Amino acid sequence: MTTNTSQSPVPLIQEKYNGAPERLSKEANDVRARLSSNRTLPTSRPRKGAVRLPPDVSSAEFETAIKELRQAIGVENVEVNDKALVDGWYLEHPNTHDAFHIAEQEELVSSATVYPGSTEEVQTTVRWANKFGIPIYPISIGRNLGYGGAAPRVPGGVVLDLGKRMHQILNIDAENASCVVEPGVTYFKLYEEIQKRNLPLWIDTPDLGGGSVLGNAIDRGVGYTPYGDHFANHCGMELVLPNGELLRTGMGAMPGPDGTDNPTWQSFQHAFGPSVDGIFSQSNFGIVTKMGFHLMPEAQHQSYCFTFLRDEDFEHIVDLIRPLAQKRILGNIPQLRHVIQELNVTGLRQADCHTGSGPLTREEIRVAAKKLPLGECSWVFYGTQYGSTNSIAEQLEIIKAEFAKIPGSRFFLPKDLPKGHYLHDRALVCSGVPVLRELEWLNWLPNGAHLFFSPIAPTRGKDARIIHEMIVEAHKRYRFDLFPTLCVAGREIHYIVNVIYDRADPDMKDRAVRMMRELIQKCAAKGFGEYRTHLLFADQVAGTYNWNNSAFMRFNETIKDALDPKGILAPGRNGIWPKRFRGKGWELTEKDVDLRSIGPRL
Ligand code: FAD
Repeated sequence: MTTNTSQSPVPLIQEKYNGAPERLSKEANDVRARLSSNRTLPTSRPRKGAVRLPPDVSSAEFETAIKELRQAIGVENVEVNDKALVDGWYLEHPNTHDAFHIAEQEELVSSATVYPGSTEEVQTTVRWANKFGIPIYPISIGRNLGYGGAAPRVPGGVVLDLGKRMHQILNIDAENASCVVEPGVTYFKLYEEIQKRNLPLWIDTPDLGGGSVLGNAIDRGVGYTPYGDHFANHCGMELVLPNGELLRTGMGAMPGPDGTDNPTWQSFQHAFGPSVDGIFSQSNFGIVTKMGFHLMPEAQHQSYCFTFLRDEDFEHIVDLIRPLAQKRILGNIPQLRHVIQELNVTGLRQADCHTGSGPLTREEIRVAAKKLPLGECSWVFYGTQYGSTNSIAEQLEIIKAEFAKIPGSRFFLPKDLPKGHYLHDRALVCSGVPVLRELEWLNWLPNGAHLFFSPIAPTRGKDARIIHEMIVEAHKRYRFDLFPTLCVAGREIHYIVNVIYDRADPDMKDRAVRMMRELIQKCAAKGFGEYRTHLLFADQVAGTYNWNNSAFMRFNETIKDALDPKGILAPGRNGIWPKRFRGKGWELTEKDVDLRSIGPRL
């Protein structure tokens, strides 16, 4: 298991493949201490039940199967999940269950974890799963927190933890500005290696740097340099298909001379014939063992932020961003955050700004924000410009002239703000330096955990207002603080809501589930669909993409059944169920608000 919550120092990357870089060691230990001090739950509790077996597998069959796999890939590489569950924290997360359990902690659990050490061992495990009919669920690092963590969708599935033994940076090509990585390569690891080699290249990192470069891209995660669309910037994959066969996509489908890899594998994504890469993202059609990425040549850059006074300025801000983004005057995908995010990213807890139960009042937010460096405001826009000093200055003049159209807007550079202000961390993320700062907002509540609600809306003020008002109203009614971060591109907005809850509060968890179910349904009625979701909401979200009698899902199911007739690979991921499970009560729909127990609803 990758869990260790003892107060020994947070493992460093030179000690553990998924550890923290030395430059962040103090910060990592400090943030862990703050999170622990806000925890009332015990580190672990004795298990209520025995090992959660895979569906349709008896305990004798499970024992035989485990014995056989141990013989094939080594006893130490197959671990039965029979010990107490430990939630840990971001950098010492479990690979046995969802650390942010919105269901009962023991519900969304694996029966075992397997650590393949090579592509061949992944193939062996896949063939083994077919033989015994055991569902397997691949993770790269397993830090998909807010979207299900490391948990398998089917309780009792076997987690394939690829990262522990497959974490090599296979190539960094400085001339081509690209790399090839195995699943266990984190943003931290890739960044540190590029620094060590002194290469003029950037990586693109999400808000937190502990995730897998490959795993995040497979789940179509986002970062914040101009290379922020991670899947769009991949180039070539190697995959194990559900029958154990090996496939290379893109130019990799053509062998290179004398048995080498094709020399253009990381140069041209689409190659010849159907471009199949997309079907391996957010799906359950293959296990990715290698993946190529383009890296951005380093550039001059300038981060900044604007503040806007009134909540009602929202629509106007969005309409001003659209042309700036479409004309590519904005350098990256900027973030528009409500000022309440200034409070929690500073490490403030709800109790520091609020008395009583339920969410903060608008007045409490105003009073607390007033004391912070940006002062009283409603919206904060975080952007970064790239290019030469002169071109950055010109771009900023255009942007300032646009935002000056909103009365009371103010402009800040990092030098205008104290050292600890979030803009300094934003500047790092937006120039490809992975950090940990965003962990602070998990401190908002005791035993803080969160669900991401992540719909896509058009970049048009009036549409943005419709979705925003629905989300505001639901948060009020369900009594949650609203933490919206909008990643605003030229034509669409990733409207990311962090629904923060206390893992020890069953009523709060119940309200969070009900609010998610309602928002998915209400947003879909207006044509706003999620770009990504937690495992337990995937069926409902998939069900909203139902144009023409759900032609899209029927297409996915056709592929699934052709590639995976035994239904062993990640059944239910992104709502795609193989024939063996389909229509047998595994799907969780909008009616399933009681998620305390997961299993067939018959
Ligand atoms: P994994 O958990 O390893 O993989 C994600 C999923 O992809 C797995 O569950 C699995 O279904 C599939 N998968 C993984 N590997 C394979 C494989 N080899 N073959 C087939 N399928 C595979 N996310 C963002 O994108 N951007 C952000 O800015 C961001 N900010 C965050 C801030 C906070 C405070 C937190 C807690 C989370 C944030 N996240 C963000 C969500 C999440 O932490 C990251 O997306 C993270 O990179 C995902 O976890 P991972 O990289 O370990 O991927």
